[in-house]
Amino acid sequence: INRYPDNKHTEIKKLVSDIKNVNINQVVFGNGTDEILDLIVRVFCNPNKDKIITLPPTYGMYDVIAKTNGVENIEIPLKSDFSIDTDKILDLKTSNIKILFLCSPNNPTGNKLKRSDIYSLIASFKTGFIIIDEAYIDFSDEPSFVLELAQYSSLIVLQTLSKAYGLASLRLGMAFADSAIIGLLNKIKPPYNIGGATQEIVVKALANPHFKKESVALILAERTRLVERLSSIKEVIKIYPSDANFILVHFNNANKLFDYLIESKLITRNRSSVALCEDSIRITVGISEENDKLVDLITKFYSA
Ligand SMILES: *Cc1c(COP(=O)(O)O)cnc(C)c1O
Repeated sequence: INRYPDNKHTEIKKLVSDIKNVNINQVVFGNGTDEILDLIVRVFCNPNKDKIITLPPTYGMYDVIAKTNGVENIEIPLKSDFSIDTDKILDLKTSNIKILFLCSPNNPTGNKLKRSDIYSLIASFKTGFIIIDEAYIDFSDEPSFVLELAQYSSLIVLQTLSKAYGLASLRLGMAFADSAIIGLLNKIKPPYNIGGATQEIVVKALANPHFKKESVALILAERTRLVERLSSIKEVIKIYPSDANFILVHFNNANKLFDYLIESKLITRNRSSVALCEDSIRITVGISEENDKLVDLITKFYSA
């Protein structure tokens, strides 16, 4: 470990391009997808001039990265059923919009976006690039847009090892796109952005054909069990359907419940102050002991 790591990520690139069935020059890796989001905004947007579109409620980093790069974020909220307001996006008269961020399955709502809506946006949004963030794609039965890159040269698909592979601490994010786009991202990425230890462990995880499948199967089984257990609590008003490794749950008195869980050393995501997610908490599916502890704590909270 006294030597610098491979700055071309040769081994993981070979494995990933085989698994995803893309060319080696259609992949770039980042220190988490979060680093790639930053690279994309810096490559395509001029500060204080260009703009991006996001569809809240969605992943918070799009807004953070736009703002830290001096790029305006135009928010077009999802409709109340968490689907895309395509008409509103296409009616925008604003100029200099360079990026449209779509997150499917979406964080924190858990639903996948309608494929027909995504196609109509790809067909009509011609002034910039469409990013499809597929951080949760492996928990869904939806096919990845990576398979369609050949048809769409302005599409960038993001995936990560942080969720389905359960390797968040290693920090490995991936972007798939036309080789011209990947070439630009490669030019501005810090050369040693993926550490040697990460590359070594990732090779092992990727080379094992069962690794991801087993991890996803475990999480999906636990998700089903967690939903069943929560459904029997009467203060649970609604559990939104999920295509991800988390569930969004509408509770009676969510703020107080969230504080109680924190005091009990269990961290969830309180989305109560987010429009369309009123009184709701996003819960990541844990291992079975963690899920049981959660349900027990919630039951205890409401019976107090
Ligand atoms: C977790 C998450 C990411 C970031 O993943 P990293 O690769 O760990 O940086 C990106 N997008 C969404 C929607 C996420 O939920």
